[in-house]
Amino acid sequence: MTEHQKTAKESALHNLEAVAALVAADRPLLITDADEVLFAFMAAFERHLDDHGTYFNWASYRLNGNIIARADEQPVGNHQVKALISGFFDVHTRNIEPLDGAADAMAALVAERGLQIVVLSNVPAQRHSDRQWALARHGMDYPLIANEGAKGAAVALLAARTSAPVFFIDDAPSHHDDVAEHAGHVRRIHYVGNPRLAKLIGPAPASHLRARSWNEIRRFIEDHLDEAAA
Ligand SMILES: [Mg+2]
Repeated sequence: MTEHQKTAKESALHNLEAVAALVAADRPLLITDADEVLFAFMAAFERHLDDHGTYFNWASYRLNGNIIARADEQPVGNHQVKALISGFFDVHTRNIEPLDGAADAMAALVAERGLQIVVLSNVPAQRHSDRQWALARHGMDYPLIANEGAKGAAVALLAARTSAPVFFIDDAPSHHDDVAEHAGHVRRIHYVGNPRLAKLIGPAPASHLRARSWNEIRRFIEDHLDEAAA
């Protein structure tokens, strides 16, 4: 494959329709978030904040207002929060660590249950190839969509491609609300890899399961597929 073909292929994969076209009509589908579901976002982001003389104060589940400058112990402005986040993705999308159990659980579900997997991540579009590289490096080389904002519309479009069960995993309760609204039949799993963040985020009322591990996620998917086949 030439460099040009490679670039063209990568940019095609940015495209939701292009990934949707890969979804087979008769196989179950898992649509999974990446940060805090496949990758240890918070651990890496806290190190990034420390590198920039700031820290997260864990007061609530939002970044605006909760990132504090060590110099004056004051929250940094929202524009600076935005710069810290985009700087994080620029520097750390490739070297972020995976979460325990994710790659193995997904590989088993693919091999044993014919699951197809799409990663739906709100990573900036210009970092798509970095994230795909990190997924491949850690044994999770599934098609990636760099999404922006709410996820309900993208999930509805992907889910419509198959008549088999569809599952969605995300750490953010707001995405569960939106998916419930746009694709109500999708089974929704709330999972937050970082235990401290899990406590801070609390429940996602629009989800069907609050999972504590990838083993639990795998069992839930297997049980549901068994029920659907019965
Ligand atoms: Mg996330």
